[in-house]
Amino acid sequence: MPREISYQLLIEVSQSLSCVIGRLGEFEFPAGRYVYTGSAKHQIDARIAHHLRQKKALRWHIDYLLAAPGVRVVDVIRSRRSECMLNRSVRGRIAVAGFGASDCSAGCSAHLKYLG
Ligand SMILES: [Zn+2]
Repeated sequence: MPREISYQLLIEVSQSLSCVIGRLGEFEFPAGRYVYTGSAKHQIDARIAHHLRQKKALRWHIDYLLAAPGVRVVDVIRSRRSECMLNRSVRGRIAVAGFGASDCSAGCSAHLKYLG
């Protein structure tokens, strides 16, 4: 049986905020819910634990958003589907072009979507 290789974080932004996302730059994030889709071919549990941890070095784009005040993960979903397929199944709009998609080879413009 294929392993779970992808995950989605359902994120709640309690009030609109402006956040610097590493080298991507600074962006406005309207209040509401977002879905971030990622993958970890190995140690998916460790990756998810990393996202849920409060204190950590900021490495991925999502780390910067999750470190902002009033931002929290409200649900985590795991999947055996590829992250890009999962990402495409989310109806929502691209929040920040390029967010989380640095190693995406499937042409997603971002792996973070704003649900409203
Ligand atoms: Zn992708």
